[in-house]
Amino acid sequence: MITTLDNIKNTLIEDINQLTGGQLKQKYLSKDGVLTKLFKDIKDIEASQRKEYGEQLNGLKKDLEETILQKESNINNEKSTVSIDPSAPFDVNSSKDKRPHIIDLKGSSHPLMEELEIILDIFQRMGFDILESRQLDDDFHMFESLNFPKGHPARDMYDTFWTDENFVLPAHTSTMQNRALRRFGPPPIRVILPGRCFRNEATDASHEHTFYQIEGIYVDEAISMGNMQATIKEYLEQYLETDLEIKMQPAYFPFTEPDVEFVISCPFCNKKGCSTCANSGWIELMGCGMIHPNVLLAGGLDPQKYSGFAWGVGLDRLVAIKRGINDIRKLRDGDINFLRAL
Ligand SMILES: [Zn+2]
Repeated sequence: MITTLDNIKNTLIEDINQLTGGQLKQKYLSKDGVLTKLFKDIKDIEASQRKEYGEQLNGLKKDLEETILQKESNINNEKSTVSIDPSAPFDVNSSKDKRPHIIDLKGSSHPLMEELEIILDIFQRMGFDILESRQLDDDFHMFESLNFPKGHPARDMYDTFWTDENFVLPAHTSTMQNRALRRFGPPPIRVILPGRCFRNEATDASHEHTFYQIEGIYVDEAISMGNMQATIKEYLEQYLETDLEIKMQPAYFPFTEPDVEFVISCPFCNKKGCSTCANSGWIELMGCGMIHPNVLLAGGLDPQKYSGFAWGVGLDRLVAIKRGINDIRKLRDGDINFLRAL
């Protein structure tokens, strides 16, 4: 019988190297396990050998139990130090064995977020603060503080989503102007307001129901249209990495006066005409203008003393122009191959 124990010891050493704690438990210590059976056989051992046999068997059992404990705690330690990728598209973090293409599934920044960082960096170097917009707002910030009193016809320019509780999903980042004026005042106030916007409208290659906008405001004493033109031009030239010609043409927004459409020479064809500029040589890029006195008043500032300008540009559109994307909906439809190819 002692010889049998020696044989089992040899097999056990091999098994310890190959089996998990759970498998070892099952094979040796379960109800029908190898060691359990040997304990049952003690009564059949010759009385003179029974004591030594019992001691050896107990020793074996104790060693095995310690080994199993050790194995299980190693597994737990491994589990707790495994790094996870929170940006992964599905449950690749749950088990390493499930990762069929580890390199392919590595997370990365979305192109919109990469470009947003580049833009924010440009403005930070120009001395602007940054205040992120919110994704649910109220009538006061969406309309009233921006010189759209109740019943104002220009409210119809914005197809907005409303909740049952009368909150609105921002249709532009101008919802943050009042907050920025109050938070960063008294002037000089230089703030960039990036955020997500939502519009209840049909989508096509250049319109999405959800998009990012980057708003900017600049308020101080004696600020003019000239300051606005220079600031926006400088920013666009740095972002598009080329010299630009600009034009300003009339537009209408209730919260600025005068209001203009900022138009740039096409950065790709030198005004000769190409698909990006619809063969016109020019691109209408964004609305901007001098902040309306009523908006300054609502923000607690004296419009006799201060003036300023504001602009809002669609990040998706800007990224589409810079990276040559012909349909902005592709930025959000989750096609990972498209995003990687950008
Ligand atoms: Zn062009």
